[in-house]
Amino acid sequence: MQEYSNRKLHKNFLIIMLVVTALILVLLVLQYYMLIQIDARYANITREYYMKVYVFIPGGIFTAAYIVMWQMLDSPNIDLQWKDLATILYLWVLCTVGCFVGAENAVLFGSFTIPISLSTVYGRRWMCRATEGLCLITVVQYVGTGPLFPTCKETIVVDVFTALILLVLCCFCNEILMEYVLENNGVIESHMSDNSRLEMRLQREPMTGLYNHTAFYEYLDTFVKNRGEDPLTLAVVDIDNFKKVNDTYGHNNGDEVILNLARVLQKWCGDSNFVCRYGGEEFGVIFPNVKVKEATNMMNRALEEFRNTEYEWLDGRITFSCGIFQLSSYTMTASEFFRVADKMLYTAKHNGKNQCVSG
Ligand code: GH3
Ligand code: MG
Ligand code: MG
Repeated sequence: MQEYSNRKLHKNFLIIMLVVTALILVLLVLQYYMLIQIDARYANITREYYMKVYVFIPGGIFTAAYIVMWQMLDSPNIDLQWKDLATILYLWVLCTVGCFVGAENAVLFGSFTIPISLSTVYGRRWMCRATEGLCLITVVQYVGTGPLFPTCKETIVVDVFTALILLVLCCFCNEILMEYVLENNGVIESHMSDNSRLEMRLQREPMTGLYNHTAFYEYLDTFVKNRGEDPLTLAVVDIDNFKKVNDTYGHNNGDEVILNLARVLQKWCGDSNFVCRYGGEEFGVIFPNVKVKEATNMMNRALEEFRNTEYEWLDGRITFSCGIFQLSSYTMTASEFFRVADKMLYTAKHNGKNQCVSG
């Protein structure tokens, strides 16, 4: 569930940062027209120079950093902690570029407290320390490189000094908050009763370690009942011609195929989605907060890898069929939701197998 909430945070972060970045660029353009009238430092700057140095270059850096972060957050192969770090580093880039091109006062330098605070939210001490160090160094080194900008004020040293006091205070508060975050996580874990630990173990099926039949239907029911505005998508998967695989190559080799499918589904969809084995060779993936298009992309990548797997004992390919459906009606129950996705799976089988059908 921790992964699920972080992923939700990342999604909102992408939207918020797009708006914030666009606003900063608009402000930078407006800054020229407003300040040229009243601020002597802008009098000698031509409009072309200002737009190039203060708008287009920062805009290019913001766009490149945003694309890198977006790709990282979107990739199923990247570990959650690196995704967390990507959001912090993006904020750092935003603050650094913002300070260099708009160094008007200490308040701007104070923006470095924002990535530091975000690192506390993630509850990882090393990430918090690294962010604090990076932001402190960036502010100090501005004294050396800031004057390269024509609008850099004479009061820069005072500004930086004020910002440093603010940052040190922020680091101090963060240490206290970090203790609180870590303690709370620990309390939650240590308060888990033996019963709930047992319950957790009972949710998994022993062969693949995926959520079992009971957990699948319970999670599906919970997500359907508690859904808000966010999308909810379900994929159901069935291996093609699996009886033949068992009959021809034996049950043990059949098990190897099942284990491989479990691994592939975890790899492409496991990041905060719920991968379940609800039947012998039938799998379900619950995608909270994921639209059908994105889920279909993940399932197609999984199918691609599964179908290209080579088994020592097999001269050929094994494929699966998949039905994917996004919950559309507010009155739909979990079992109706499942039935529609299952119907799509049937269509995939009917259309020749080895494919994903979505709706
Ligand atoms: P289709 O393409 O229409 O799905 O054909 P199919 O042969 O795959 O048919 P079906 O999905 O009904 O096949 C289910 C088979 O899966 C029957 C059973 O022998 C096999 N099976 C179920 N659980 C296991 C398991 O844990 N290990 C192995 N090796 N086989 C299993
Ligand atoms: Mg089946
Ligand atoms: Mg089958």
